[in-house]
Amino acid sequence: MFDIVISGGSVLTRTGIEQIDVGIADGFIAALGSGLEGSEMIDASGAWVGPGLVDLHTHLREPGEEWKEDIATGTAAAAAGGYTAVVAMPNTVPAIDNAQIAFYVSERARRIGYADVFPAGAITMGRLGEHMAHIDELWDAGVRIFTDDGTSLDNAAVLRLAMDYIANLGGVVAQHAVDSTLSAHGCMHEGTVSSRLGMYGIPSEAEEIVIARDLALVRLTGVRYHVQHVSTARGVELVAAAKADGLPVTCEVTPHHLTFDHNDVETTDPDFKMMPPLRSETDREALREGVRDGVIDIVATDHAPHAAREKEVPFEHAPNGVTGLEWAASVAVETIGDDMARFFEALSMTPASIGQIPAHGLALAADQPAHLVVFDPVAEWTPETTRSRSRNAPYLGTQRTGSVRATLLSGKITYEAGS
Ligand SMILES: [Zn+2]
Repeated sequence: MFDIVISGGSVLTRTGIEQIDVGIADGFIAALGSGLEGSEMIDASGAWVGPGLVDLHTHLREPGEEWKEDIATGTAAAAAGGYTAVVAMPNTVPAIDNAQIAFYVSERARRIGYADVFPAGAITMGRLGEHMAHIDELWDAGVRIFTDDGTSLDNAAVLRLAMDYIANLGGVVAQHAVDSTLSAHGCMHEGTVSSRLGMYGIPSEAEEIVIARDLALVRLTGVRYHVQHVSTARGVELVAAAKADGLPVTCEVTPHHLTFDHNDVETTDPDFKMMPPLRSETDREALREGVRDGVIDIVATDHAPHAAREKEVPFEHAPNGVTGLEWAASVAVETIGDDMARFFEALSMTPASIGQIPAHGLALAADQPAHLVVFDPVAEWTPETTRSRSRNAPYLGTQRTGSVRATLLSGKITYEAGS
């Protein structure tokens, strides 16, 4: 008799997809087989059972901006979205530029127990782009991804030095690829809609320039490089060309760039304001194609909560960002379709591998920690509530396909639909 049995689902195992049960005992996967009995049964008929999802790009806002989100509410939202591990962005207040804050974030998440949190470290002190952060001690604290996310690291000399340093350690440099000077006044994509609305735009070139410059430095330093929230067709082409050249490059796309485009900004609803901005229909199609063909390695949420009083202002004055943890899996399945292997690759296995996250993102096998998700790929649902502290999400009230039935972290149920 197992503690929990997940029965009747399509299970992603090391040897392929199989219709079997998963038996869980003492926090671990104890058996994969047929007719297993558990004290607690989770019905997975018609559903996919695989490794818990892993988000490489979450803003938990703690420490410093807990009115938007904190580690408890953010990881509760993560569990509801099928995630068992998230990488917390370092643009907190203060920034995660030293080991103490990194320890604080991961330890607090461990005590709360909704999801494992792996903090990313800032590349520069205070994310100011001038002097390298305490990269050695961050590394020793378990940090593997370094980024000044929220801001592009514009200074090529500082970036080169950091790349040399991080390459030597074996870490990843992740870039918020939006040129600061070209985006300085902009609040949406520069195109037909920004012309019509009379808003300052951000040209696609703001992304291309940063990626192209960085790729030259990747060639120079050999560092593993990850493009965060790619938003343009040309950005995807640059990554594809770099991969064809054998450079160690990966990239992510957000759910909102797969779902919406600059026409949605016509509403001037601040929930459609994000950085990089929603691009053209052509860009969105290229992003969707990129996820399907794998040029875009992963879907990452860029979950960016903001309080209502911050977002309920004129579009130009609103902060950038949208929440994403609870509907990213739906958007992914809407994009990828019924390719279960690609779904788990893009949302769990490859993010864990890029982020060097241990014990997550593994095809199921006996004796590994039971970090699992049960996901129904065809269930239709309409998100009305959220476990996040913030509600800045244009997905609320819209019908989505694909929903999480249950999430388990170390064999404990962290989310179960309808309970
Ligand atoms: Zn960013």
